[in-house]
Amino acid sequence: MTDIKSLTYEELAEALAQLSLPSYRADQIYRWLHKEGVSSFDEMTNLSKDLREKLREQFLIPSCEIEDKYVSKLDGTVKYLFRLYDGEYVETVVMRYQYGYTVCISSQVGCKMGCTFCASTLAGYQRNLLPSEMEGQIHAAQRDLGVRISHIVLMGIGEPLDNFDNVIRFIHTVNSDKGLHLSLRDVTLSTCGIVPRIYDLIREQLPITLTLSLHAPNDELRSRMMPVNDRWGVDEVIAACRAYAEQTKRRVSFEYTLISGVNDSPACAKELAAKLKGFLAHVNLIPVNDVEERGNVRSSDSAVKKFQSTLQSQGINATIRRTLGKDINASCGQLRRKKNGGETFENSCENR
Ligand code: SAH
Repeated sequence: MTDIKSLTYEELAEALAQLSLPSYRADQIYRWLHKEGVSSFDEMTNLSKDLREKLREQFLIPSCEIEDKYVSKLDGTVKYLFRLYDGEYVETVVMRYQYGYTVCISSQVGCKMGCTFCASTLAGYQRNLLPSEMEGQIHAAQRDLGVRISHIVLMGIGEPLDNFDNVIRFIHTVNSDKGLHLSLRDVTLSTCGIVPRIYDLIREQLPITLTLSLHAPNDELRSRMMPVNDRWGVDEVIAACRAYAEQTKRRVSFEYTLISGVNDSPACAKELAAKLKGFLAHVNLIPVNDVEERGNVRSSDSAVKKFQSTLQSQGINATIRRTLGKDINASCGQLRRKKNGGETFENSCENR
């Protein structure tokens, strides 16, 4: 059976023409799937019962059901654990900012990248998400919360550039004026640095924001934290980001997770500043979130501030990431692990 929600508009029109349906049906059905975000053919109320039945025989709409939901009492951040058609789980976070709602979505079930501080890798990699399943996370959250989401960050479970074709298809779909119609400028993709795919992304000519998870200023340190660095080193990945900034005229952001005694010294800050010199870059500093059995310790507030001021004194723009959803463990990877029989998830807030 074909996943109808992952088809482009043109592919849908073609598939419906094969069923001898008139072309206006493609418009109706595409809007139901992508603007309204319906989860079943029965909700397509302007189609006859017979037509809905015919569609059900040919196509499926992959499900994205709320398994768990946590709401932060501190700032209203909402974290979902969604169950997919095959019983796999992914996590999605919705954050409220002054400029609107941002959703942080997963791009894969698990992750292969093996970063030493990250929970997403621990429960193992299962599969890529379909374009429809990435969009499904947004639709399910919007419907549950009754709000319109205006910004997307591909920063949940998984490595988006390791699921390149589906991610690109998803990005085109959310941009469609027959669907969610989000501006590509409000889409951010975060990568651990799969260099050839960064160049592929440049060729797509999409004005999305690229964020690189850098976390260390040199190969010795970065390879200890991120196995991907053995394949593409710091200089190579920063060069790819420079090319991205030059070609797209978009500022590139660098994520730098601060771990006490590992990568948070003023010497690291100076080395980082030297690497990023003369580049329209922005550094996001994130004190590491504790993940049990990872054993990483958050940098102290004073070490974080010192790191920031050292970067700034070298002319590098740096902000300290405000932590949202602190009481619900809003960083990704932990709920899925718990569901799969990993460590228990200590949580101070109510389960739905
Ligand atoms: N694979 C992509 C996107 C998912 S990770 C990437 O690597 O960018 C999203 C961000 O969270 C990355 O910057 C990642 O390095 C960071 N991250 C993962 N685990 C973390 C933790 N325990 N504390 C703080 N940041 C973490």
